[in-house]
Amino acid sequence: MDGVWDLVVVGGGPAGAAAALRAAQLRPGARVLLLDKADFPRDKACGDGIAAHGRDELALLGLPGLLDDYRPTPHLSVVSPSGARVSATAARPNHVVPRRVFDARLVEAARARGVEVRRHRVRDLRANGGHVLVDGTIRARAVVAADGAHSAVRRLIGLPAATARHTAIAVRGYADVPPDDDAQLIAMQKEGWPAYAWSFPIGDGTANVGFGMLLPRLRAAGRPGRDVLHGRLAELLPDRPARDLRAHHLPLSTGRPAPGAGRVMLAGDAASLINPLTGEGIYYALLSGRLAGEAAVRAAADPLPAYRRSLRGALGRHLRTTDVLARLAQSPGFIDAAIGTAAHRKEVFDLLVEVGLGAGTVPPPVVLAVARRWLRDSLTRRLPDRPSR
Ligand SMILES: Cc1cc2nc3c(=O)[nH]c(=O)nc-3n(C[C@H](O)[C@H](O)[C@H](O)COP(=O)(O)OP(=O)(O)OC[C@H]3O[C@@H](n4cnc5c(N)ncnc54)[C@H](O)[C@@H]3O)c2cc1C
Repeated sequence: MDGVWDLVVVGGGPAGAAAALRAAQLRPGARVLLLDKADFPRDKACGDGIAAHGRDELALLGLPGLLDDYRPTPHLSVVSPSGARVSATAARPNHVVPRRVFDARLVEAARARGVEVRRHRVRDLRANGGHVLVDGTIRARAVVAADGAHSAVRRLIGLPAATARHTAIAVRGYADVPPDDDAQLIAMQKEGWPAYAWSFPIGDGTANVGFGMLLPRLRAAGRPGRDVLHGRLAELLPDRPARDLRAHHLPLSTGRPAPGAGRVMLAGDAASLINPLTGEGIYYALLSGRLAGEAAVRAAADPLPAYRRSLRGALGRHLRTTDVLARLAQSPGFIDAAIGTAAHRKEVFDLLVEVGLGAGTVPPPVVLAVARRWLRDSLTRRLPDRPSR
């Protein structure tokens, strides 16, 4: 035993690092322990896309320049399920930074702020008086579970994992691209919808490329998952043969995250905080981690209610919006209509980016404009062609 920690964070990805950084930032001298089963730098299967909103979070954590040596990727091209393309310059550029680099920088920043970082795989956790006992020897006033998609802590506190219906799976690799390629490409697919391939150039002559789809659709393909994912990626980006292929699950948001139990707060993927429309999770991980770290030091007597409130305040309406949109998006025609509308109206394009990568919601007039287009497109498809005279 090494005394009582003010906060023990399980997992050193963006969610865990943000929790540790925030706690140490708000209360210098707080005893914060960050545990991860891996040593850093370590790889994590991801598209490496960091939205502008994620950079806002880094600034709040006191790390505004963390990605300054990476080139911004200002352009975004989206191809709809039926093949319509919209290309525009994003209102604020995204960055593409390999997770091997990004996560190690965050953990290093936490260490520099006085957080103790240990390599340790958490296997057991129990409430013990006013504390949490981790693996029988580590005593904590509060725990942030940021141990990712297959969170052991989530299971240990009795909360269910994401259902297959709300789980996606994606494979990512790296491919050579022209060094001046600075456009992120998202190519949606009708086959196995919802499914899409991406190419996110890093700025060093390589791009992160990948393909993802919903788990039930992958199972329905009736072939080994690996063959389907690797095959579709090669087929969709034939000019970008990928190396270092690696796949991982994405627990998608259901609109109402379970924030934890007792003195344990869930953050990031452990709380199934992944945007169901885009697969974006780094911004949510940084945000939820920051709020959990904040609650651990500002509401130390009972952090969970404070965390639940602040998470709801920051993301509640947005998560409910993405849940409704994800249901509508089961029909590829809806996404075609949304992208078709965005192709003609830059403010709709910017709004879709806010909803897909940030904490945006959709104002009723935009819903109406998309619905009108969806209806018109479906009627046009249904009506028989008039005979030509
Ligand atoms: C293929 C793919 C592409 C994606 N592309 C993007 C993208 O481009 N942009 C984006 O924003 N999001 C993307 N995502 C989602 C994003 O990767 C996640 O949302 C994000 O990594 C969540 O961060 P986290 O800190 O919650 O979890 P993680 O990053 O998974 O970190 C969890 C950490 O916990 C540690 N851990 C696990 N179990 C234990 C244990 N028992 N004890 C101790 N430590 C443990 C792990 O070693 C790991 O370091 C993608 C996901 C996938 C799978």
